[in-house]
Amino acid sequence: MKPRHLTLAFIAVMGLAPLLLPTFQVTLLNYIGLYALVVLGLVLLTGVGGMTSFGQAAFVGLGAYTSAYLTTTEQLPAWLAWAGGSPWLALLVGLVLTAVVAIALGAMTLKLSGHYLPLGTIAWGLSLYYLFGNLEGLGGQTGISDLPAISLFGLVLDKGEKIFYLIWAVLLVAIVITQNLLDSRQGRAIRALKGGQVMAESMGVNTFRAKLVIFLVSALFAAVSGWLYAHTQRFVNPTPFGLHMGIDYLFMALIGGVGSVWGALLGAGVLTLLKQWLQDWLPLVMGSQGNYETIVFGLLVILMMQRMPGGLWPLLARRFAQSRPPRPAPPEAEALARRTQPAKGELILEARQVTRCFGGLVANNAMNLSLHAGEILALIGPNGAGKSTLFNQLSGVDIPTSGDVLFLGQRINGIPSRHIARLGMSRTFQHVKLLPSMTVLENVAIGAHLRAQGGVLSSFAHLERSEEARLLAEARRQLERVGLGEHLYEEAGALALGQQRILEIARALCADPCLLLLDEPAAGLRHKEKQELAALLGRLRDEGMAILLVEHDMDFVMGLVDRITVMEFGQKIAEGLPETIQSDPAVLQAYLGVE
Ligand code: ADP
Ligand code: MG
Repeated sequence: MKPRHLTLAFIAVMGLAPLLLPTFQVTLLNYIGLYALVVLGLVLLTGVGGMTSFGQAAFVGLGAYTSAYLTTTEQLPAWLAWAGGSPWLALLVGLVLTAVVAIALGAMTLKLSGHYLPLGTIAWGLSLYYLFGNLEGLGGQTGISDLPAISLFGLVLDKGEKIFYLIWAVLLVAIVITQNLLDSRQGRAIRALKGGQVMAESMGVNTFRAKLVIFLVSALFAAVSGWLYAHTQRFVNPTPFGLHMGIDYLFMALIGGVGSVWGALLGAGVLTLLKQWLQDWLPLVMGSQGNYETIVFGLLVILMMQRMPGGLWPLLARRFAQSRPPRPAPPEAEALARRTQPAKGELILEARQVTRCFGGLVANNAMNLSLHAGEILALIGPNGAGKSTLFNQLSGVDIPTSGDVLFLGQRINGIPSRHIARLGMSRTFQHVKLLPSMTVLENVAIGAHLRAQGGVLSSFAHLERSEEARLLAEARRQLERVGLGEHLYEEAGALALGQQRILEIARALCADPCLLLLDEPAAGLRHKEKQELAALLGRLRDEGMAILLVEHDMDFVMGLVDRITVMEFGQKIAEGLPETIQSDPAVLQAYLGVE
């Protein structure tokens, strides 16, 4: 069965469920739907963006309490009176409030790295939880009761079987818009976060903004779930919004499979049913009441994570993936706008007295360098000479201690690399940085990020379709240009190392640069691959591209480049044509170790 038919069959079964199942099981399905909505946000945040959050339950609480307060309080403050009484208005207020809180919390915590971010999420999860329990007007630990039911087109959703349809419709919409988001330019930028901040930024992605976007979306999903929960139960108290539940949500995401939107549903379903089942059966088996289910549940979760670190969904998906027919290449589309390229021979890049100190160590000492359009310059030197340090300063990853870097005549010291990328500089990495489980085509399309505008909202509904087609067509063109046209839909991680390096060049070319910076592009390549790479770089030069490469392989460099700059101990020791460098005594001494 095709995935689309599977989805339709799923919708049909769910549509019939409340008519056929006993009330108790419909209630269970309602919970699964509500949980899945929160977990979906975690799939975005943790699975796609690589950020772990224990604090989602607090956002659920924010949505729930806002609506509970607004729909039950008799005398609202005058400025809020307009929002009283109607769950729908309360939803609106809840979403705005959640957005404000999420942006404030995100701005404070998303810049934290390593363990600090999860710890930060625990901190805010706890504080919001205690706020719910202590705030006057929210009913303390007893909570708020007698919430009105939601009405929709005159229908009062006052029973589990009725609100079931709203819950699952909302969940389905959320799944679809999440999927759409991930399949878009913005989605690729978000997924690029996992390839490392440096890579994403150098492709023009504002990584902080990308993080904030998924943080916000996941918080809003949680708030909607809380709103639905409050009006399903018609009662709220702080318990379901505590850290305990925040951890359960994370478990659901991990068990279901944090890498896929359907994993959210699967994880919520499996964990909810498992808990229910343990609660029913364990007392019978153990012969007594004793909360054994918590212990057994914990053990089962650990076991599942150990056995299936990717979660359950990938196991299911693999069965269907095999029967999927090969996809056709993305069709030709109107080409993206190109920048006006500098004329051949024009000065593109200049380093003036660039010095970089790490404490007492002078890694670059008054380095000068210039590069012109239609020229290939190689930067060579023994290990530790300072090549990568210089490379990082030229590409905006690092800032010179003193001296200037000029790109197209503009001083770029200290400018973020995503802005430099926009000016027309593009790079590859010494240690390949790509998204191994993403297709070759999508990886390369990340390179074209800065050539389009499609925003988050338009990608929810795929309104940027035509732009997206142009981006994918561009990625395909660049892949064909570098000779990887046969591999469009393979997983990038499945390519040989040499091909992955070529992929990075295609990704860099997608940005329509006038300067390519390549850090050891020939490392790990076989002889024939090196020849092909040299031919490709030669063609690019002839088209007027300026290319700077850091390279170890002398044979590769000698046959290809126009000029060579040799470094040792952070300084330039020679510069000139390959023939002269080859016989320069200082170079032979330093680089080749020849006396
Ligand atoms: P190359 O790329 O030519 O092998 P590098 O630029 O990586 O050399 O390193 C030049 C020198 O600077 C080395 O001695 C290295 O240990 C030092 N170095 C590089 N980066 C840092 C850093 N972030 N902090 C401290 N020392 C560094
Ligand atoms: Mg290096």
